[in-house]
Amino acid sequence: MSHDYDDQNIFARILRGEIPCNKALESEHTFAFHDIQPQAPVHVLVIPKGPYVNADHFAEAASDPEIADFTRAVARVAREAGVAEAAGGNGYRIIANTGPDGRQDVPHFHVHVIGGERLGRMLPQREG
Ligand code: AMP
Repeated sequence: MSHDYDDQNIFARILRGEIPCNKALESEHTFAFHDIQPQAPVHVLVIPKGPYVNADHFAEAASDPEIADFTRAVARVAREAGVAEAAGGNGYRIIANTGPDGRQDVPHFHVHVIGGERLGRMLPQREG
C-alpha cells in the first residue's frame, strides 16, 4: 500500500515553523502541541517529526527508535499535563483517527491526548 505524504499539510508546516503553535513537548523524533480547538481541558496533539501519513504508515515505516520515542512522548505529555495517574491525575484518552472512516482530517500521523475531566463514552451507543 502506498502512503503518499503531502508536505504542505498543516502539521508539516507547524514542524517547519511556518505556522505558530502552542508547544507542549519536543524530543528527538517527536513534537507535541496544544490542539487549536480543544475538546477537553487537556487536549494535546503528539506527532512524529518524520513524514508519516497515519498510524498504519508509522507502524510500518518508522524506525524502532522513532516508535519508542513517540510512545514515551505520549506518556510524558500525559504526565506533564497532570492527567496520568502516575502524576496524580485521573486518567486520559489517546485517539489516533486514521483514514476517512476514522475521520482523520490532517494527513500527518498524530495522537490526541485528551483529559482533565470525565469524558463521554468513546463512541455513541448503537441502537438495538
Ligand atoms: P484529526 O481529525 O484527528 O485529523 O485531528 C486534527 C486536529 O488538529 C483537530 O483536533 C484540530 O482541531 C487540530 N488542528 C488543526 N489545525 C491546527 C493548528 N493549526 N494547531 C493546532 N491544532 C490544529
